Amino acid sequence: MAGEERPERIVVSVRLRPVNAREAERGDGSDWECAGPTTLTFRGAVPERAMFPASYSYDRVFSHECGTRQVYDEGARQVAMSVLSGINASIFAYGQTSSGKTYTMVGITEYSMSDIYDYIEKHPEREFILKFSAMEIYNEAVRDLLSSDATPLRLLDDPEVTFFLDMKGTVVEKLTEETLRDKGHLLELLAVCEAQRQIGETAMNEASSRSHQILRMTVESSAKQFLGKGNSSTLIACVVLMKYLHLNFVDLAGSERASQTASAGMRLKEGSHINRSLLTLGKVIRQLSKGRNGHIPYRDSKLTRILQSSLGGNARTAIICTMSPAHCHIEQSRNTLLFANCAK
Ligand code: ADP
Ligand code: MG
Repeated sequence: MAGEERPERIVVSVRLRPVNAREAERGDGSDWECAGPTTLTFRGAVPERAMFPASYSYDRVFSHECGTRQVYDEGARQVAMSVLSGINASIFAYGQTSSGKTYTMVGITEYSMSDIYDYIEKHPEREFILKFSAMEIYNEAVRDLLSSDATPLRLLDDPEVTFFLDMKGTVVEKLTEETLRDKGHLLELLAVCEAQRQIGETAMNEASSRSHQILRMTVESSAKQFLGKGNSSTLIACVVLMKYLHLNFVDLAGSERASQTASAGMRLKEGSHINRSLLTLGKVIRQLSKGRNGHIPYRDSKLTRILQSSLGGNARTAIICTMSPAHCHIEQSRNTLLFANCAK
């Protein structure tokens, strides 16, 4: 929570988007109200079958009036910046299609990167190399978003991560990794990802609601320790620490894919695979939020396998659950809140 001394390992917030024109046209108003910074209140008509508690508490709730800047500052910033103090981190957007996941993640990625660059400028005593890679998981196939080659990439165990972090790490074989020159270079690469994603979308109907996108910043940093002065007052410095850390921005497939019973053929395949990644993520997060004792099923899906070293151990996670406030989406909103409850 904002202003708290001890950082939470998993920070869960809920963001409401404004009622859109289509929803307003059909007379749908907002079912939800933010009763303070951490409480969401249901004020709509209760459908008979659904059991609706009147209020819900999270680390933060954001009304439709909050901008992405505020969502970032209060719901994601601390988690993102932990990558600079040696901790892997992931930021997720979870919610049904058109609830505002991409809208939220685009802003958060940009603000995080700005903050990271500001930090680097202010700390010349540390050396940083930033790398960027991007992938999409569709039907449990991993695709490189920085390459026009759509061949699915294989996941391999990473012995280095296993050695250093004492946990199973996974590398995505042949994934393009670009060393970032500056902020402008990052923007160029983000445009490449978006173009690759759109090509995928034309080939596969509605792909964005069915695929997971992971944008990954790798931060390599070394701290120089001052040892003393040489003869001609030359500074003798010694590199004492080298770290490779990940900060992941994850724009998940629409959460309706986790609950929807798929119809037939391709649809069924897509549905069941997206079930697998989203459901496995749910299980993993639930276990981690309970103190991670026992077996955590990272290896049950591509998404959780790729993110394993950024979810387990002492990694930090921010989950932003996006929601449409309109009454017609009540069932999906309820599912989203159930997910958010499990993550707490
Ligand atoms: P998703 O990625 O969950 O499918 P999008 O991020 O694409 O949803 O959002 C759907 C539409 O709603 C987009 O046109 C987007 O610009 C708009 N939108 C989403 N969240 C907000 C918000 N908080 N404020 C204003 N417009 C929003
Ligand atoms: Mg989207």
